Amino acid sequence: MTSQATQIEDLGKLTELDASKRRTGSGTSEFKKLTVESDRVRGRLPATILQHYDLRVSKGKRGAAKMRNKVCGGCYISLPSGQLADMLQTDKAVQICGNCSIYILPGDPVLVVETPAAIKKAATKAAPRKRKVKIAESPVTEEAS
Ligand SMILES: [Zn+2]
Repeated sequence: MTSQATQIEDLGKLTELDASKRRTGSGTSEFKKLTVESDRVRGRLPATILQHYDLRVSKGKRGAAKMRNKVCGGCYISLPSGQLADMLQTDKAVQICGNCSIYILPGDPVLVVETPAAIKKAATKAAPRKRKVKIAESPVTEEAS
């Protein structure tokens, strides 16, 4: 039994491996290594996910993309708030963009669990006099202009 979080993680790995394979080009030993690795990741993913993924890849598209600032990484259209809420639920199915149908990987630092390094980075960037305690709940302010 694999959790949805693992599936999303594997989907992200597979996307990276496929991108590396495209860069490397077939026939090289690096390509073979990447193929072995991606086959292993594929072995963990359900057929339904792979089917949708491969269909996109066969059309020359990316199978999955990271979400950035609540925007789909595939088509750069803002994701509906309901879908964003679903992405916070780790037991929910892997999310598909309603516009471009790419698999959306949670890549938004506001929504993912903050690592101590990320918190430190955010605090340094903002350089506030008063240290914000609830840093996870206050979205990192982008350039306001
Ligand atoms: Zn999209």
